[in-house]
Formats: sequence, structure tokens, C-alpha cells
Amino acid sequence: MSNQYLVFRHCGDADGRLQLVTRTHDLGGTDYDPIFRASVADAYGIGRANRAVGFHTGDDEGARASAEPMALRAVRRSTRQTRPWDLLKVSGEMRKLAELSDDQLSRLRKGVSLDVVDTDALPRFYLVRSEAGDRTLLEEDASTDVKAAIRALQTANGGRLLGEHHLEDVLGERIEVILPAHGKRNWSDGDYASNCAACGHAFLGPKRAPRCAPCHAETLAENAARDAAGPAAKPGRHGVYIASKAVAHGPRWQELRKRLPVISTWIDESAPGLTLDWPDLWDRCISEVISAEVLIVYMEPGETLKGAWIEVGAALGAGVPVLGVGIDEFSIAKSGKITLCASMDEAVEMARGIMDGNALVHGAGELESA
Ligand SMILES: [Zn+2]
Repeated sequence: MSNQYLVFRHCGDADGRLQLVTRTHDLGGTDYDPIFRASVADAYGIGRANRAVGFHTGDDEGARASAEPMALRAVRRSTRQTRPWDLLKVSGEMRKLAELSDDQLSRLRKGVSLDVVDTDALPRFYLVRSEAGDRTLLEEDASTDVKAAIRALQTANGGRLLGEHHLEDVLGERIEVILPAHGKRNWSDGDYASNCAACGHAFLGPKRAPRCAPCHAETLAENAARDAAGPAAKPGRHGVYIASKAVAHGPRWQELRKRLPVISTWIDESAPGLTLDWPDLWDRCISEVISAEVLIVYMEPGETLKGAWIEVGAALGAGVPVLGVGIDEFSIAKSGKITLCASMDEAVEMARGIMDGNALVHGAGELESA
């Protein structure tokens, strides 16, 4: 439509912000479809960089001519259902201006030039030569796994973390791999230093917290949304379900039950040659799994898990946190849905933490504990 265009206008905003709208007129009159609101200074910066943007604000052009042209970028946030696009100012200090719907972004792009980054489709970690500023996408695992990205950085810097190169995220923000971390990413308590599994940035938080504070909040919000949308409210859950080879480890878990509330009853039926009522056993296994507070899946080198994977699937489907020992090689371990532990002792310690309500694990929307 040739008579549709973008203008900033006053909108009665209490902070005096201007509203960018697409303006359409037909025989019925003029319509204004809002896109987003911006401060006067930001609006001028956008106007300076994009000639197609008009101003119906009544102020003279001289006031706008001195504004710094502003470069923009739109980044898709796959975790957000509505308004999935973050509109960012990328010149100077990076800042978020607005959240946009698909429709708003497409109307904006008719008159405003901007970078569009879809994080669903693109790798996230970039190696940058600090001096020259040129960015290279890291390859394979290093593009999405911050630990692999840090290893790649170390290699590029001749074995050191600090050197000619640094890491940047998809937004062009530098990733600090050596503390001090960014304050805004730190938890309000805890001094455990780590790089966030979601965004890569360094942060301080509780021991083993996998994500920085904002990413953790996002995960909780996501889980809450999913729980709200999902079926059954969670019944009262209790204890630890252990999934592993039966004959090899059943007796060991019977022993463990003396100091941990292990609820799997299969461990009492794990002797070789025992005649089993299979329908009854599987009924119990599944109902115990989904009534557990946490599931530990355990595998030793050389073993092949079969039934245990079904139990893991039932747990993930029911929102029961899953801890994994010895399963690092499987793709599910890379899904972010399972918290990997180096040993059974570590898994037991973490399971206790989950039951106490103070451990942080992948997929644990249950943190707002009872
Ligand atoms: Zn993060």
C-alpha cells in the first residue's frame, strides 16, 4: 500500500514518549496502528538513521538534525509466545527498546532498516579479534555450548583465556569469561562463579546454578507457563526414584535406602530368576516415577539401559527433575532437561538438595517448593 508509512506522533504517554505508528488512509479516514513507544531522543535517533520515518510532532527539524543516528537490531526470543522480538539499540551502549509481535516487526521493516537475528536458527557464540573487531561464528558445539566456546577461545589465545580474541554473544555483547561478572547477571546471593548455560555470560550465584539470574527467571516463567497450560496439578510428591540396570545394582540401592528415601520398589525384585508379574511391575514403576520428587538415572560403563529410559521419559513428561550419572554420551544429556552428576554420591547430595527445596536443576519448575 503506497500510502502507508511510518510516523512518530504524540500519544498522551505520561512520560512524554512518542509512538511509532503505521499510518493508513482510505475513504473512511486515517488509521494509526501502533508499533512501539520510544523516548523523544530515541525517536530522533531512529529518524536520523531512517529517512522513511516521519514526525508528526510539531517540532522543527533542527531539533532532530543533531541526533545520533541509531542502529537497530531485532532478536527473536524463542521462549516468548507473544511479542517474541526484542528490538535493540545497537549503536553505543546496547539497550532494549521494545518487544514486538511478528506483525509489528514486519510493519517496522517497511521503513526502518535493521538487523534481524533469529536465535532459533543461528549459532550464538562468536569469536572476535578484539583489535580488528571481526566476528567469526564458532563451529559445531562451540556455537551453542558455552563450555566448548570457552575452549575454542582458549585455543585461539594460545592457551590463555585473555588474549587477542574474546567471545561475543549473538547480540554483540562481550562475554566475560573471567570475573568480575556482570552485576546484572548475578544472583542476589551465592558466590559460585560460572558461565550461564543459556546466555554464556559469567555470573555469581548459588553452587551449581546452571544459569544467570535473568535466564533463570526466564526458565521459571517458562516452566510456570507450561505448568499452567499443562494437565494435572502435581500431587504431593515424595522421595527418590532410581532407574538403572536391575540385577547389577538392585542390592546397592536397597543399601542406599537406609539413608535416602528411595521409593523404587523394583529394587526388591531385582534378583536374577525371580518370577515377575510384568504388568504389575511396570504399573508400579511408572506410578512411582511420577510420584517422585526426583529421579536418578544411573549407568556404568559397558552397561546398556533399556527400561530405565522409559522411566526417564515418564519423569520428564511429568515434570519430575532428572539427575543423570554416566549418561553424558547420550543426546538427552545435551537437551538441558537432565542435570548431569559426576558420581552417585553427587547425585544423592543433589537429590537431597532438591527435596530440601534449595537445589537448582534443569527443568525444575518445582522450585517454588511446598
Ligand atoms: Zn544467562
